[in-house]
Amino acid sequence: MRIAALLFLIPFLWQFNNDCSSSTYIGVCDTTKANICILSGKAAQAATLLAQTSNYNSAVALIKKAQSAHYKEYVISFGRDSTGNLINSSVSMGNINSGHIPAIHNRFADVHIHTGEQPPSSGDLYGFIDQIITTPHYIRYIVTPMGTAYALILINKEEALSFNTFYARRAGIKHLQPDGTSVSYQPTFPQQLVNEFNELVSWSHTTRETALVFLLKKYKTGIALLKQNASGIYKTLDVIEKTDSKGHKIYLLDYCP
Ligand SMILES: [Zn+2]
Repeated sequence: MRIAALLFLIPFLWQFNNDCSSSTYIGVCDTTKANICILSGKAAQAATLLAQTSNYNSAVALIKKAQSAHYKEYVISFGRDSTGNLINSSVSMGNINSGHIPAIHNRFADVHIHTGEQPPSSGDLYGFIDQIITTPHYIRYIVTPMGTAYALILINKEEALSFNTFYARRAGIKHLQPDGTSVSYQPTFPQQLVNEFNELVSWSHTTRETALVFLLKKYKTGIALLKQNASGIYKTLDVIEKTDSKGHKIYLLDYCP
């Protein structure tokens, strides 16, 4: 009888251990063992809602136009005025691979455009962690010239802070240009993660997007990458590592439902 009762409880114990979704998506559980789709659900909805506003659309149109004319990164921040209305900052011009986030009242999101088709960089990730320290619901959008759109959102603040400590960023290098000006490159992952990222891309032939999603999960960054689908909805990306029949590791990227 006791054994039967225990067996009956096992599925519920399993659910308890893996349920990080409770009332808020910034949970305190191990996100690698949890369902990332459930954890990121509310933040993904928030990212989609903001992307449906005229503020977002005009910001994206502005930075796309500026990027195509000058081949630099451009950034716009989103905030709220004292009555709660959505407001946009002015456009900030960066350089070829990094930008400056403009100040705005109650800033809670920003969007920047890359000069190529790359997904969010390590610099975008560490910069995002700086934002979530004070604003856990922060959304960082990244768009490309061809129209691919990503967003970084937080699913577990404790994990993000811990990642930021144990896998601290390395300062970006400064490159002096022929005209005397210097370009500051953005911070990078520590060498271990740079090596792993490069191995995923060159040996396992994953896309940079897949490699990033895999590292976000493996190193418990507490951060999820969203990608906008053809209907304008921001969906969380998840990746599963498998071994094929020849013993090679393969990485399957998928959208949450
Ligand atoms: Zn970026």
